[in-house]
Amino acid sequence: MSFVLHIDGERWRAGHDQFVADRPGIVPVIKGNGYGFGRDLLCAEASRLGVPMVAVGTYTELPEALAAYGGDVLVMEPYRAAIHAAVPDLANRRAVHTVTSHADLDGLRGATPEARVVVEGLTSMNRFGTPANEVAELAGAADAIGATLHLPLGTGHIDEITRFIAAVPGVRSWFVSHVSTAELATLAERHPEHEFRPRVGTDLWYADKGSYEVRAHVLDVRPVAKGTPAGYRQRPLPAGHVVVVSGGTSHGVAMESPSSAATPRSRAIAVAEGVLEAAHRVRSPFTVSGVMPRFAEPPHMQCSLLSLPAGVAPPRVGDEVTVRMRLTTTTPDAVIVS
Ligand SMILES: *Cc1c(COP(=O)(O)O)cnc(C)c1O
Repeated sequence: MSFVLHIDGERWRAGHDQFVADRPGIVPVIKGNGYGFGRDLLCAEASRLGVPMVAVGTYTELPEALAAYGGDVLVMEPYRAAIHAAVPDLANRRAVHTVTSHADLDGLRGATPEARVVVEGLTSMNRFGTPANEVAELAGAADAIGATLHLPLGTGHIDEITRFIAAVPGVRSWFVSHVSTAELATLAERHPEHEFRPRVGTDLWYADKGSYEVRAHVLDVRPVAKGTPAGYRQRPLPAGHVVVVSGGTSHGVAMESPSSAATPRSRAIAVAEGVLEAAHRVRSPFTVSGVMPRFAEPPHMQCSLLSLPAGVAPPRVGDEVTVRMRLTTTTPDAVIVS
């Protein structure tokens, strides 16, 4: 247990309470690596929040969510008769399916006649969906409980949503993704007869960014003279200390893009040499003795070699160091809620 996501439970939950209070009808999204926290923990958190529905990304994630959470579970990937006809829990009454075509609707109802569905409209995202002028017909045929719209990041969605609402007069509930609270307020004001249900993951689970952090252990520390070779690549180190910390590629510790290199020159070198070869010029996400040292070489599977510059006090074996990472691609050894 050495690469651990620590959560201050009280503070983390308070952030969610406030976020949910500000967004009536919110549908928390629980998918992938559970935003770093794990899907089961988020299901438990959704239960505590008392929301009536959560959304998962895929059918693979459905059974676990149905087991860990007692409300409705919306599957955001569209049902495809060719792919999903035999997936577990298709007929579970708490599952809500997304459809984008008559063929898939027929396949789904053939497998489970009572299936509850939403119809997804094809937005400027251009990912999944039914063209706006066909949503009304499909939603009618499906007796859909609502329509869904997945919009690009950013704002400026009101016009696009308004076009759908005008084209689909029979639908009252709209599940929308990536719509700001200001946009939601505008929509609610303009369309009081409709209900808008924001599907939110990132902004909800990371509502209070100070309420959690990833910490790694210092596994070894050694003073080195300038030019000492180290690592798989035997690259010469600068003078200072080589510090071995827990956390490697299996945890999601990766070379950052060249944009994280310190100077325009080092960015240019990183691009020219390829990011991996530029490792010793790239800052690591670990904070050691108040600085973010560079990688001595690309991270290993479960640990990383860092090059701590001369003049910086070395840490001790067993010390904990914080890691600044994007949690959607982090796989910690453990998640500890205190
Ligand atoms: C992932 C996803 C969301 C949640 O996205 P966040 O940016 O994490 O809030 C919402 N809607 C759909 C369709 C998604 O795939």
